[in-house]
Amino acid sequence: MKIHEYQAKSILERYGVPVPKGGAASTPEEAFNIAKDIGGRTVVKVQIHAGGRGKAGGVKLAGSAEEAKEIAASLLGIRLATAQTGPDGVPVGTVLVEEASGVAQELYLALTVDPSAAGPVMIASESGGMEIEEVAATSPEKIHKELIDPLVGFQGFQGRRLSASLGLEDAMVRPMVQLMSILSRVFIEQECSLVEINPLAVTNEGRLIALDAKMSLDDSALFRHPDLQLMRDRDQEDPFEAQALEHEISYVKLEGDVGCLVNGAGLAMATMDIIKSAGSSPANFLDVGGGAREEKVAQAFGIMLSDPGVKRVLVNVFGGILRCDIAARGVVMACQEKGTNIPILVRMLGTNVEEGRSILESSGLNVSFADSLAEVAEKLSTLGQ
Ligand code: GDP
Ligand code: MN
Repeated sequence: MKIHEYQAKSILERYGVPVPKGGAASTPEEAFNIAKDIGGRTVVKVQIHAGGRGKAGGVKLAGSAEEAKEIAASLLGIRLATAQTGPDGVPVGTVLVEEASGVAQELYLALTVDPSAAGPVMIASESGGMEIEEVAATSPEKIHKELIDPLVGFQGFQGRRLSASLGLEDAMVRPMVQLMSILSRVFIEQECSLVEINPLAVTNEGRLIALDAKMSLDDSALFRHPDLQLMRDRDQEDPFEAQALEHEISYVKLEGDVGCLVNGAGLAMATMDIIKSAGSSPANFLDVGGGAREEKVAQAFGIMLSDPGVKRVLVNVFGGILRCDIAARGVVMACQEKGTNIPILVRMLGTNVEEGRSILESSGLNVSFADSLAEVAEKLSTLGQ
């Protein structure tokens, strides 16, 4: 789960990370009051679950409280598309109004999980700011990493080594190492998959301050963090993905036209590969899980069909704990509810496969069958053509 910048900053502040003075506003009047409280120049920033806001016009400087109010009025209620959102963008329900800082240098600092090292990694760069992706692509020598041993945690020498790579002045090293060690504590204690500060600014007075903050939380650990659960903003989530999550179905929307319904994450991944290698594109990842009942299968199938991009469907079920007849009944239930005649290619194997097949055959739906994955690939090329 992602949280907003203002929420991430409130957590960081609690741990002692320096952040600009400010507050979140959902109306222009609130923005005015916060800006007036701060006095002087402020920055008004849209709060969305995506980066790239600066380049998309979602971060603006205001010279007065009146101007902060006008900017807030122009941003609240719009949908902002950035390089990290889809073309439709995401809704802006909140803006963060903050004291503007005089910035001498923009650094990058983040913690995430390194998949190949299977552990946390701290990443730092002397070239932070809005061009960080560009820097990573063209000047990888400016990206510095320290793997963190989960048993001993982040070590001071690693902080000093990173600080040296960043070329920091001697006086900055101690505060930087302290900040890094705080961030690694946040990462572990709040069970994050990402903590990112970009830019981490060095102010004109030589102080470090987190101008931006991004945090993603491990969904599987959220049950241990009731305070973080409250930070969920459903308006920022894909409505179908959110609906699926509520029914404990793993669904991720993709761009292709072949909807797929599979039981088991591994089989779902393999199925997507088959679709790709057959020259088509999956419209989603969908794992209904092992112990699904027919209502849950129907629910999952319905969510998949709600995507207007889905023009044909592949059902790939290995009947173990989920029996084939239950999967078949769920599919029929969903199609009848939606009144759809979409072409469906079914590959079923395992428990009660004969019954599952005959339920589908006698349903009057537009169903065809494949017995092997090779046959799936072959039939997919003409399905719905
Ligand atoms: P992002 O584009 O979504 O990552 O949004 P950021 O919060 O990083 O803001 C974009 C850019 O605006 C930053 O890289 C900074 O250069 C600039 N910025 C943000 N806050 C301030 C501030 O308080 N003072 C100054 N001078 N620049 C800021
Ligand atoms: Mn940023």
